[in-house]
Amino acid sequence: MLAVAAACSLTGLVLGYPYLAELALWLVINFACLLGGFLIHEGAHALAGRRFRGISSFVVSSSMFRFSIAPVGRLYGWQIAVMALAGPVAAAAAGLVLWAAVPGLLLHWWFWPHLVFLAPLFGDGRSLVVGIRHWSARVPLHAQPPEAAGEAQ
Ligand SMILES: [Zn+2]
Repeated sequence: MLAVAAACSLTGLVLGYPYLAELALWLVINFACLLGGFLIHEGAHALAGRRFRGISSFVVSSSMFRFSIAPVGRLYGWQIAVMALAGPVAAAAAGLVLWAAVPGLLLHWWFWPHLVFLAPLFGDGRSLVVGIRHWSARVPLHAQPPEAAGEAQ
């Protein structure tokens, strides 16, 4: 994405087409919002998790299209529910702030869809269901640190 934006900008500057530079800026801003939404989302999970005793570490996993953190340890169900809600709600709240600040730019649409991750189809939604079902029980978290996962195989 950034390479495309740089190519558009350079081409626009060399050929004297300023609208290509505008396109490059639009690409960079939208990419920053896409990335920022996920950073806020995962950061909120981590911040919420750090408030609870029982998490020994976080496991970061990533692929070409996503990255996520998973806590290792044991939490009460209500804590799992709070952690699950924190990421999507924080991203949606950031989108709300952006929409209030600059409604005409429509950049908030990179943030509000994070609420979809609360559907049980996704990890946050599944965690929310587990947290609600085991509200006052301590639940082991299934993420394994990389070295433990390597030993199990
Ligand atoms: Zn999440």
